[in-house]
Amino acid sequence: MPTAMICGGGVAGLSSALHLKQRGWRVRLFEKESELRTAGVGLNIWPNGTRVLQGLGLGDEFLSFAASMNRWWALDSDGTVTSDVDVSVWRDELDAPITGARRRRLNSMLAAGLEKDELIFNAAADRYEQNDVGVTVHFTDGSSATGDLLLGTDGVGSKIRNHMLGGPPEFTDEGIVRWRGVFECAAAGVPTDVQADVYGAEGHFGWIPIDSTHAYWYGSLAGLSTFDEFSSVYNTWSNTSVPKIIAVSDPETIIGREISHYKDHLTQWVDGRVALIGDSAHPMYPGMAQGANQALIDGQTLTQYLERYDDIPEALRAYEHERMPVAHRMVEYSRLHFNWEHNRREYATAGNNLQIDRYMEFEG
Ligand SMILES: Cc1cc2nc3c(=O)[nH]c(=O)nc-3n(C[C@H](O)[C@H](O)[C@H](O)COP(=O)(O)OP(=O)(O)OC[C@H]3O[C@@H](n4cnc5c(N)ncnc54)[C@H](O)[C@@H]3O)c2cc1C
Repeated sequence: MPTAMICGGGVAGLSSALHLKQRGWRVRLFEKESELRTAGVGLNIWPNGTRVLQGLGLGDEFLSFAASMNRWWALDSDGTVTSDVDVSVWRDELDAPITGARRRRLNSMLAAGLEKDELIFNAAADRYEQNDVGVTVHFTDGSSATGDLLLGTDGVGSKIRNHMLGGPPEFTDEGIVRWRGVFECAAAGVPTDVQADVYGAEGHFGWIPIDSTHAYWYGSLAGLSTFDEFSSVYNTWSNTSVPKIIAVSDPETIIGREISHYKDHLTQWVDGRVALIGDSAHPMYPGMAQGANQALIDGQTLTQYLERYDDIPEALRAYEHERMPVAHRMVEYSRLHFNWEHNRREYATAGNNLQIDRYMEFEG
């Protein structure tokens, strides 16, 4: 039985481990922390990601705790509704709904498919070496593990990527802080089956239900900000639900973090028996809310090629060849959708939801 070593226990690592396990691989997932990631409140899982979960046999379980959307609104900061899309039809048209879920819940569901000895905590990957028959990953504590395949699912700060490329890539330095928080939909007077985005000259604010009672919001100003600056701007959007949403949010859940992605796309995701998956390969601004969805598709695609080809490096090259142009296009759109001034102009004239239009290009 071939052995896959997977470094990083986020959505990319956990879902890849399940795909491989279901196809007869022995899996060992190494996570540098002492438990699964709990930071990051919610995720928008689109039909493309939901279908991957369905393929893993987890569709029903996922939908039992995720919120499924029926409509998606886009508004101007003066309260004008610029688009109101019926996304309930995607259940039939795209074979899956668009959903929102708590990140922690999604990761726990994926981890439940692994045995205790398949998930190894406090194991921080540092570098690897390989030859014709196998690959060895070395950890920062001096220990190592050997197998047939190594996946770098260690996110935006990936050590596997750094080793593959000979150093870290350059990151963007636009100085954007993404603020997030969780609120009860009833307290804010917003429905539990609608996600919404509001665009203004100063920034962008949106919210997505993540279960049957709660939603999470996200927003950024055009530059670095403190929460006081952030909320004082958004509190002026008084014709929208935004001030109320901020007011009823659980203060403990409010976090702001600077975000960035690679200045240039990586030109290499694969080195022999080693492949990058998810954010280590293609971090993206959350403008399209697709980073985790793309990570889910990466793992599924890679596993399909491993089934098709006997030669592991050949399978990994096929994965890179298929996924790289698609994920990079999504990175570009994600960046575009983070440019709210541009968006505001486009939304004001388009009369539809450009994020949806762009997503549909990927549904082909
Ligand atoms: C504010 C925000 C909102 C977002 N919203 C959405 C959304 O709505 N929808 C969506 O699809 N995507 C969204 N994303 C993107 C999404 O969060 C990421 O694309 C996704 O989490 C990537 O998963 P990953 O497993 O590749 O990386 P991560 O989730 O970063 O997981 C990496 C894991 O590797 C571990 N690790 C790190 N270094 C090592 C090491 N050396 N050795 C071993 N383990 C290591 C980490 O501890 C972590 O557990 C959002 C991102 C942000 C910042």
